[in-house]
Amino acid sequence: MDLAELQAAPAAPSAAAPSMLDAVREIADGPLQQAAEATDRGVYPRDILRNLGAAGAYAAHIAPGLEAGDYRAAIRAMTEVSRVCGATGFMVWCQQVAGLYMQQSGNPALTGARLAAHSSGQRLGGTGMSNPMKAYAGIETLLLRARPVPGGYRVSGTLPWVSNLGPDHYAGVLAGVDVAPGEATREIMFMLPCDAAGVELRNCPSFSAMEGTNTWALRCSDVFIGSDHLVADPARPFIAKIRGAFILLQTGFGLGVAQGAIDSMWRVEPQLGHVNRYLEDRPDELQGELDALTARIELLCRTPLATDREYLIDVLDVRAHASELALRAAQSALLHAGARGYLLSSDVQRRVRESHFVAIVTPAIKHLRQQIALLSAPEMPD
Ligand SMILES: Cc1cc2nc3c(=O)[nH]c(=O)nc-3n(C[C@H](O)[C@H](O)[C@H](O)COP(=O)(O)OP(=O)(O)OC[C@H]3O[C@@H](n4cnc5c(N)ncnc54)[C@H](O)[C@@H]3O)c2cc1C
Repeated sequence: MDLAELQAAPAAPSAAAPSMLDAVREIADGPLQQAAEATDRGVYPRDILRNLGAAGAYAAHIAPGLEAGDYRAAIRAMTEVSRVCGATGFMVWCQQVAGLYMQQSGNPALTGARLAAHSSGQRLGGTGMSNPMKAYAGIETLLLRARPVPGGYRVSGTLPWVSNLGPDHYAGVLAGVDVAPGEATREIMFMLPCDAAGVELRNCPSFSAMEGTNTWALRCSDVFIGSDHLVADPARPFIAKIRGAFILLQTGFGLGVAQGAIDSMWRVEPQLGHVNRYLEDRPDELQGELDALTARIELLCRTPLATDREYLIDVLDVRAHASELALRAAQSALLHAGARGYLLSSDVQRRVRESHFVAIVTPAIKHLRQQIALLSAPEMPD
């Protein structure tokens, strides 16, 4: 889909957005601001995540049935949160994308009351799709296997790091099915409850940031998965359908970290502007770039479930640009702040580490560039 077609496409509804965004901003500038340092160091902000859900931050992109909702509002909510705390902003994405899996599954056991509890933040959950996304890109092999049994599957394997988990949480994951010799390979996707028999949450090594994201190694030993947990069987067509939406939603995380960095540059301008003006990547330049990128993303939000090649390349490109901008903005904010930004307690310092995560979480910049290169390559003649 080209830009002209995108501009002609009807905008998604956004009637509820202003009040939702006001409520999210109030949480971000109040309790989240207070909790950001503790969240960086290891405290899981459960109540804040619940309150963001009550404010509507996880519901905007979910429309009735299989329609796409207001992705622009969802990304704006994630941006507001990430501007103040990247770790919590990432968990907003985890929650939003898990809701997307449930909605698009069309499985009555996952939609209805379960989806309502998820979208309103009463229930929390994440996504363990880094490994499958990388497996589909040929970067690594699938880590979960599913053995067909009467009434469902038995799943085994370990995903090394999955965030926004806890004993009463769940995650959207994917497993390769053990098929009979000669049968076509396939995968299943499902919502895995952390309290199911055979599921174990194991400690991860310490990270340089994002410690409060409740990130665990998710180990499955012969876990039974019945039809009530299935998102898609087979999974490939489903992944093809939601891939653009999955990646597009993530941009809110990068936009927010970049915006937070720019805000921090303006804060030191009165004292340090006379010398900071000799730096590159000044806040007004970065803001111009960020605003232009946001406008591009918001245009792509009109058709989040599009699957054509041009659309996907655009989505991969804005996601890569958001990562690059977050890295540059966080680095420049550190140069602008100087020693005060080098304190471990400084938000400027924390944002440098958050921006590294924006750039390495799946799809990492290297993965995005690989996918853009593959999709842009001329098709080989038969
Ligand atoms: C804080 C944090 C939160 C995350 N949250 C999620 C989440 O919610 N959901 C999700 O699906 N993924 C999550 N991930 C995984 C993330 O998206 C990437 O897949 C992961 O960081 C590996 O990407 P990579 O580009 O380094 O992989 P590559 O460079 O391609 O490396 C290939 C594989 O090698 C393994 N590996 C590399 N280094 C190490 C190491 N030091 N120790 C153990 N294994 C290693 C990993 O399995 C990795 O996937 C999280 C990672 C981190 C650090």
